[in-house]
Amino acid sequence: MTLPTPDVTRGPVRETSLEAPCPVCGRAPLVLRSLDLDLPYFGEALQTTLLCLACGYHHGDLLLTRHREALRITLRVVGPEHRSARVARSSSGTVRIPELGATLEPGPQAEAFITNVEGVLRKFLDVVQGQEAVAETPGARRRLRSVRERMEAMIEGREPFTFILEDPTGNSDVIQDDVVRETLTPEEAARLKSSETVFDLADLARSDEEE
Ligand SMILES: [Zn+2]
Repeated sequence: MTLPTPDVTRGPVRETSLEAPCPVCGRAPLVLRSLDLDLPYFGEALQTTLLCLACGYHHGDLLLTRHREALRITLRVVGPEHRSARVARSSSGTVRIPELGATLEPGPQAEAFITNVEGVLRKFLDVVQGQEAVAETPGARRRLRSVRERMEAMIEGREPFTFILEDPTGNSDVIQDDVVRETLTPEEAARLKSSETVFDLADLARSDEEE
């Protein structure tokens, strides 16, 4: 996760050694670093990072302390002010662009990020470009190319779209005057956690079985 500016931090970094060994290398116990933040537009937040000092594995998360309810945030993106709208996505937030059929869902590797709507689209674009490069059939490559071209049109403002961010923990937000916020019902929030995913599918399915 990239912090917007260093002056949003409040108080010192707290560091705790955990009993659990690193899930990647197993050589060292994980370290938990946490830091209170006061983010412009989003308010008070807690940044946490799990860290392995042996191999460099890290997993960051962000908790906005202002919202607690399961939320759906919808923004119709038609102008530059919408593409530059600030987005805080916790590791439990799901981003959807229905016009593309694209979904960026939380998996065990999902990291929190603060960016804007255009930045989220660029994350989608990176994934699609990667898939296009390794596509195994001409049909798959053609389909991915057409998705990529539409994403580029959206990033450049040539195609309007709908930006949806859903978070069963309520720890994600989009800041813009035209945003529509809805509280999710418990059923919707539960479905969100178990819905199909484009990325990290195997691990997401496994964690659902354990619940
Ligand atoms: Zn490690």
